[in-house]
Amino acid sequence: MKVTDHIKNAKKTLFSFEILPPLKGKSIESIYEGIDNLLEFDPKFIDVTYHRQEYVYKKHANGLLEKVSVRKRPGTVGICAAIKNKYNIDTVPHLICGGFTRDETENALIDLHFLGIHNVLLLRGDAIKTEKDFVPNPNGHNYALDLVKQVVNMNAGVYMDDDLVDVAHTNFCAGVAGYPEKHFEAPNFESDLKYLKAKVDAGADYIVTQLFFDNSKYFAFVDKCRAAGINVPIIPGLKPLTTKSQVKVLPSIFNIDIPFDLTEAINKCKDDKEAKIVGVEWGAAQAAELIKHNVPCLHFYTMGKGESTHNIAKLVY
Ligand code: FAD
Repeated sequence: MKVTDHIKNAKKTLFSFEILPPLKGKSIESIYEGIDNLLEFDPKFIDVTYHRQEYVYKKHANGLLEKVSVRKRPGTVGICAAIKNKYNIDTVPHLICGGFTRDETENALIDLHFLGIHNVLLLRGDAIKTEKDFVPNPNGHNYALDLVKQVVNMNAGVYMDDDLVDVAHTNFCAGVAGYPEKHFEAPNFESDLKYLKAKVDAGADYIVTQLFFDNSKYFAFVDKCRAAGINVPIIPGLKPLTTKSQVKVLPSIFNIDIPFDLTEAINKCKDDKEAKIVGVEWGAAQAAELIKHNVPCLHFYTMGKGESTHNIAKLVY
């Protein structure tokens, strides 16, 4: 079922979460264990992130360096199909522009369509470590907006090769990312909102937000979206704090603020064990307030660590 249909049919705020594919060479069992721990909260969909190929320099015995490409976390489409098959829960693979030609994207969408996966989260992706700024594939997309247009075209039966006749129409429900505290590259909030609206006007069906720790930022974001004429569901993204150091690293990675009270509480913690408890308390308070405001769904970024998400969900569902 489409994410938007789950939302339409819901009588209360839904629960969903996002997982990362395991590192190359690792088994899928750890993914299943994480999902098993969260099944009691009846997740209506599970997102699986996509991780781009990176380049690393490998040192040989003779001292020479070789530039090799590595995909540390392959398998997004396969994991989505495996989860859907094992649990009969809808999955949402993340698709990114970076590293893909338009043809490769089309083929990935055809695979998903054949697998019966009809939800996708469409993203641009970030610059790889060896690039300063995001560089699209020469035959790929520049912005998530272009990916939305490609998906909408395929839903209308328009493929890259216009010689194709009697083609199957895909039936994708397309989610896109939104940033309550602005995307880090956007010169200002208003231009970021303009491009978010362009994604929705092009056919995106719903928005999932970047993580945030201050609900007032989410509420203000929703108000500004509505005022701008963005009327699709806006799903809040939540990440429980699990270590002391995250107070320092998350703001620069995700371009977000950590509220003063949360920072103070974390700084008082002796170790990560205590920080995790504070993270759950804060996350549960955030989740309870969001549920009170009838948000469509709480979407948790578990980052492979479902324990805190489980503890928060236990307190609010
Ligand atoms: P876009 O919507 O393309 O926007 C990128 C920037 O360009 C913004 O500053 C925007 O304001 C601007 N912009 C947009 N359109 C235009 C235009 N036409 N002209 C000029 N400027 C424009 N990354 C991954 O690699 N894998 C994942 O699985 C993944 N999952 C994510 C899930 C969520 C919910 C979120 C919030 C992010 C995720 N990301 C993921 C990170 C994401 O790829 C980065 O944040 C990326 O930098 C931006 O992606 P976007 O889709 O928001 O880009």
